[in-house]
Amino acid sequence: MPFQDDFGRAINYLRVSVTDRCNLRCVYCMPPQGVKKHAHTDILRYEELALVIRAAAEIGITKVRLTGGEPLARLGLTEFVQMIAAIPGIDDLSMTTNGTLLARHAKALAEAGLHRVNVSLDTLDPERFAAITRRDRLDDVWAGIAAARAVGLTPIKFNMVVVRGLNDDQIVDFAGKTLVDDWHVRFIELMPIGTNIRWAGDGIVPITEMRARIESEIGPLQPIHGPKGNGPARYHQLVGAKGTIGFIGALSDHFCPSCNRLRLTADGRLRLCLLSEREVDLRTTLRSGATLETVKGLLTQAIQSKPRRHHLDEALAPRDRTMAQIGG
Ligand code: SAM
Repeated sequence: MPFQDDFGRAINYLRVSVTDRCNLRCVYCMPPQGVKKHAHTDILRYEELALVIRAAAEIGITKVRLTGGEPLARLGLTEFVQMIAAIPGIDDLSMTTNGTLLARHAKALAEAGLHRVNVSLDTLDPERFAAITRRDRLDDVWAGIAAARAVGLTPIKFNMVVVRGLNDDQIVDFAGKTLVDDWHVRFIELMPIGTNIRWAGDGIVPITEMRARIESEIGPLQPIHGPKGNGPARYHQLVGAKGTIGFIGALSDHFCPSCNRLRLTADGRLRLCLLSEREVDLRTTLRSGATLETVKGLLTQAIQSKPRRHHLDEALAPRDRTMAQIGG
C-alpha cells in the first residue's frame, strides 16, 4: 500500500537523479560552459541510491524513474538498473534521457530490467537542435530512439519543452507526427528554473495557446486516457492518430493535488516538490551507517512535510539551480 501524505496523496513514485552532469547545454537550462559540478565523492554511490530505493519500495514506492543530468553520462548505469530491477515492489522502472547515448546502451538496459524511456526532444530539425542544445547530435538521438524501439523500451514518450521564439514554431510539426507514427508527444511548459532564466517569462507558451495552435492547424483534440505511466500530463488524440499528445504545465495547470512523487538528487537530497527549496539531507545519514529501517523512517517523516502545492505562480522568481542539479 502506498504511503499517504498529510493531504491524502498516495506517494508511489520516486525520481532518482544519478548525476548532475549533462553532455548537452540546452540554452534554457545551462550556460555554455555548464554549471559547477559536484565532486564525485558528493554523489551517492549506486549502493547508497539502491538502499534508498529499497527503503522507498518498502513504504509503497512502485515506480522509479532515472534522470539527471544525463543519466547515461554516468558509468555503470546498466548495473545500477539491474540492482533496482531486483528490488521487490518496483514494477515500473523507466528513464528520462536526451537519447544521445542511448544507441549503445539500449539493449543492455533492456536486458538489465529497464522497462521504457522518455526522450527529451525539443526540435525535429538538425540545425535547430544544434542551436538549442549547443551540440550537433540529433543523428545520435534518432539512432538512440530506433535502438530503444528495437529492444522494446516502450512506450517511448517524447518530451518537448516549448519556448517562445526558440521552438514554438514546431509545435504543430510534433503534433503532426502522432498522425503518422505511434509517437507519444508531451508538450511541456517552460518552468522558471535554470541558470539561463531569461528564457522564462516571455519564453513561456501557455498550454491553452499550444492547444489552440494544434487545433486550428490540424484539427480537434479529444481527451483520452494516456499511455502507461500516466503522470501530470493531460492526454489527447487527434482524430485518426496513431499516437497521443500530452500537455504538462506546472504554471497553467496545477497538478499538485494529485502529485504522487518524491525526488532524490544525485548528491542525496530528498526533494518533496520540484518547485520548492525544501529538502532533506539523506547523504549524511547514509554515510553514518544508516540501516534500511532508519532510511524508511526518514522517508516517511519527509513525506509528511510534502508541501500541499507549489507557489511558482505567486513568485515567478529566478531559480539559480538547473533541472540537472535538482534532478529534472
Ligand atoms: N538529460 C535528461 C533529459 O534530457 O531528458 C534528463 C534530465 S533533463 C533536466 C529533464 C528534462 O527537463 C528535459 O526534458 C529538459 O528539457 C527539461 N528542462 C530543463 N530545464 C527546464 C525548464 N526550465 N522548464 C521545463 N523543462 C526543463
